[in-house]
Amino acid sequence: MRHFAVVLLFLCRCCAAGQNEPIQTFVIPHSHMDVGWVYTVQESMHAYAANVYTSVTEELSKAADRRFIAVEQEFFRLWWDTVATSSHKKQVRQHVKEGRLEFIIGGQVMHDEAVTDLDDDILQMTEGHGFLYETFGVRPQFSWHVDPFGASATTPVLFALAGFNAHLVSRIDYDRKDAMQRNKKLQFVWRGSPTLKEKQQIFTHTMDQFSYCTPSHLPFSNSSGFYWNGVALFPDPPKDGVYPNMSLPVTEETVQAYAKTMVENIKLRAAWFRTNHVLWPWGCDKQFYNSSVQFNNMDPLMKYINQNSKDLGVTVQYATLSEYFQAIYQSDVVWEPRGSEDFLPYSTEPHQAWTGFYASRNVLKGVARQASSRLHAAESLFARYRVGFPDGPVPRDWALERLRALRWAVSEVQHHDGITGTESPKVADMYLQHLSQAAAGVDELLAALALLPHSPEKTASVPGTRRRGEGVRQPLERHVVIYNPLAWNATAVVNVTVSFPTAAVFDNVGKPVRAQIQRSARSNVTYDLFIVAELGGLQHRRYLIRFSEEKCSGGGCDWTYEAEGVTFERRNIRDGRKTGRRLLPVMNGCYELMFDQDTNLLHSITHLQEKRRVRMTQDFWQYDANGDIKSGPISDNYIFSANGSAVRAYEAVEMEIVPGRIVTEIRQRFYREEGDKDYTYSITTRVPECFGRRRPCHRLEQTCSLGPLHLNTEVVLRTSSCLRTNRTLYTDDNGYQMMKRTHRKFTNNTLARNYFPMVRAAYIQDDVSRLALVSDRAHGVSSQADGQLEVMLHRRLRNNLPWNLGYNLTLDDSSVATPTLWMTLGSIGVASQLGQRDAVELQHRPVVLPIDPPERSWQEEEARGGAPPVRSVVLPPNLHLLSLSIPGWNYSSDHDVHLRHVNSGEDLHPEPDYDRVLLRIMHLFEEGEDPELSKPVAINLKHVLQGIGEVKKLEERSLTGTWDISRLQRWKWKTADDLKTNNNSCRSGGEEPFTVTICAKEIRTFFVHFASGNF
Ligand SMILES: [Zn+2]
Repeated sequence: MRHFAVVLLFLCRCCAAGQNEPIQTFVIPHSHMDVGWVYTVQESMHAYAANVYTSVTEELSKAADRRFIAVEQEFFRLWWDTVATSSHKKQVRQHVKEGRLEFIIGGQVMHDEAVTDLDDDILQMTEGHGFLYETFGVRPQFSWHVDPFGASATTPVLFALAGFNAHLVSRIDYDRKDAMQRNKKLQFVWRGSPTLKEKQQIFTHTMDQFSYCTPSHLPFSNSSGFYWNGVALFPDPPKDGVYPNMSLPVTEETVQAYAKTMVENIKLRAAWFRTNHVLWPWGCDKQFYNSSVQFNNMDPLMKYINQNSKDLGVTVQYATLSEYFQAIYQSDVVWEPRGSEDFLPYSTEPHQAWTGFYASRNVLKGVARQASSRLHAAESLFARYRVGFPDGPVPRDWALERLRALRWAVSEVQHHDGITGTESPKVADMYLQHLSQAAAGVDELLAALALLPHSPEKTASVPGTRRRGEGVRQPLERHVVIYNPLAWNATAVVNVTVSFPTAAVFDNVGKPVRAQIQRSARSNVTYDLFIVAELGGLQHRRYLIRFSEEKCSGGGCDWTYEAEGVTFERRNIRDGRKTGRRLLPVMNGCYELMFDQDTNLLHSITHLQEKRRVRMTQDFWQYDANGDIKSGPISDNYIFSANGSAVRAYEAVEMEIVPGRIVTEIRQRFYREEGDKDYTYSITTRVPECFGRRRPCHRLEQTCSLGPLHLNTEVVLRTSSCLRTNRTLYTDDNGYQMMKRTHRKFTNNTLARNYFPMVRAAYIQDDVSRLALVSDRAHGVSSQADGQLEVMLHRRLRNNLPWNLGYNLTLDDSSVATPTLWMTLGSIGVASQLGQRDAVELQHRPVVLPIDPPERSWQEEEARGGAPPVRSVVLPPNLHLLSLSIPGWNYSSDHDVHLRHVNSGEDLHPEPDYDRVLLRIMHLFEEGEDPELSKPVAINLKHVLQGIGEVKKLEERSLTGTWDISRLQRWKWKTADDLKTNNNSCRSGGEEPFTVTICAKEIRTFFVHFASGNF
């Protein structure tokens, strides 16, 4: 009864509001502009994107009540830099100032939420925000995530950290959206992080069933929606300005019919929300390239509705997103809080689970992550260089240009039809080309910086004059620099591919270094040389590799172990019914792995410390996809529709074991058919030997190779164990937080709907042990049986859906994918201590750079005692150096000063600021995850960064750098539980100058100023 009374009260209040006032409608003009997808960026700019900003700018100038929101910054910036006239720019500045043109999200792209990594999401937002703040003095405060395929719980946290006041999502499960719509629960306050909770909560609006497009059906016309400018035409815009499918003009004859359709739609939607305000997005994909037609029709229509608002019960107005959210904020409604549950995966219909894209275009996903790691390494090395040698020989403009190009390319591919693999083949090629071109530029920069002497006069070459290949003065010698891009000390094993069977390795002071050499797993003509590199945080060292054609002895050769493989004959899986009779052990300090000679498959892993043997096998399975829409649901770039259970993807397995002193390698080759000459799949497992204090032995590195696949197959690596898990698994949202995924049953499509994105990590566990995988790129992951973890690694698909064929959205991907996973097994406590760090360390492995031989011979260096390596920078084990870079923006840290500068109109081409260093530090642990490591950590940044230089000034900023944190006041939304936000609850007392306390899961961003010329 009590419940009933509450409902009644609630209803009465709503009725009262509705009776007195007409529904207030916020018509938000927008154009959804995919940075990629079907057309390349260049094609889109030419066909419509440039015209959007040109024509919107002109149209906004004509009437003061018109509005527009600009979303993807990549297109806006291209227009601003290459198309806009000075008169356009002047008008844009005026519109922005008056709040008529509003930048929403402000990132380079609308990033995907399922398969992107936190590093890259932050990067792409930082890029766009830096440009907008520098150019206009504005800081986006609202999101518009209308198209990403599902919604991650990390996204609202990042937006909150960037200073946003409200978040907006759209694509969530159809059945969940239905229920939320019915129950007026589309709006809520999201506490995406289970640790940061209300500190970083954000109001979230879920778009209703009409999503971000205008209703497409007009009962009185064959044309669709409120799109008077029709549909964009490729490759060239029509010369006469007449586009296909332009809607009927609004005239005296049609205005009533238009008004009726619009008002009915507004009223329908108003019933799904708790306030009297309706967000009415006006636009869709590729709209407003001919804005005059758009506004000239909408103006009279809106005028008509407002003149009849009493009868119609509706008012309409052009609005930006902030005007809509302002109205909601002022409505004084108390909102329901939502915890850290996300909206992944995503289904649009019973048989349409968008879980395929987690694994689409594995190669692109891998290249994008490698480029991101490369950028991370180059950023910190350049920042060090600038602080240490402000007048050093590497030209700063040349360097920054290279970094900016790679920032741009890595940002671009985070688009929700980019890294997702849901684009057309030519667009995938565009991303790959942009990434590889920019990465090559950064490699040149890295090579120039790696030659960084420890005193400037010893610089060997100046960029631009150095020729590639000079690193080999004589063929039997090679010089490399190995750089550790993380602020932790590391004993890393680095693999260098060489063409000689014997080698000796020496460090920068001429001491021999432990190494191992063996025939490569991938090729008969190359060798893998494993070097044990001891590196401090952010430290690099030079190494000399000396080769010899013959068996060498002495002179450091005895430090290199020459490993030989033992091959086990090919076994057909048929014959392996009896298992466990002939087991081969491979041991290191952490594990005993058993391989079965009857199958050549993994049999079990014993975790030595726990003394627990876990039965475990690992092999490849495939889902045979349906490619004919007439015979049922299909799989494509986006969708995974399991057409039955998976079947074994091979008939026979061969094994080779290469016992070593640094690593022991187990090479398993899987043949589709027993008699095949070449294998289709392989797993190379590297079992590291434990030595030294810091060398982790718990990571079993597994590099798989898959392909080319047969058409219409989706291949998984299945790890089956005896752990009792009840099919529950844990996967990460964007590498930031782990999500518990309990197996759910659905009326339809249960298998595909239990697939989840795995960006960096996934694990299963029972009461005692955890089996974890961390990954160098995104995949799909699922647990379809007790104790099982299957990772979808590769897909090759083609179907006859006309829509797919029309846009060439095919996934006939014949590439060979070579993803790497680190597998670990251990007690839950130890596994959670190591897991986060493993994921970061796989992401940011040491960088190997070939360099020119030093000017002085190695012997001379030795005689001088060698050059000391640069000083290390080391953070505590639970803190990760997320960013250390020189962004180059030129704006005052003082907002008022900067605004005055922007408004003065002077100096519109600012010189980059090379002295401001952006620093981000992230606490890796959740509250309560580990008794010690979850604790807040106080560090003195002056002390920590002294290896780089002398810190003079520290300014704390918002996530993307644009806010002085002490002036950032986000909107405080009322929630039912009304938790008092206390941003400093985890900190004790006042902080000393330069000392900062970083609490569980926090990401803190600083501008650091160093005293110049420290060395
Ligand atoms: Zn899109």
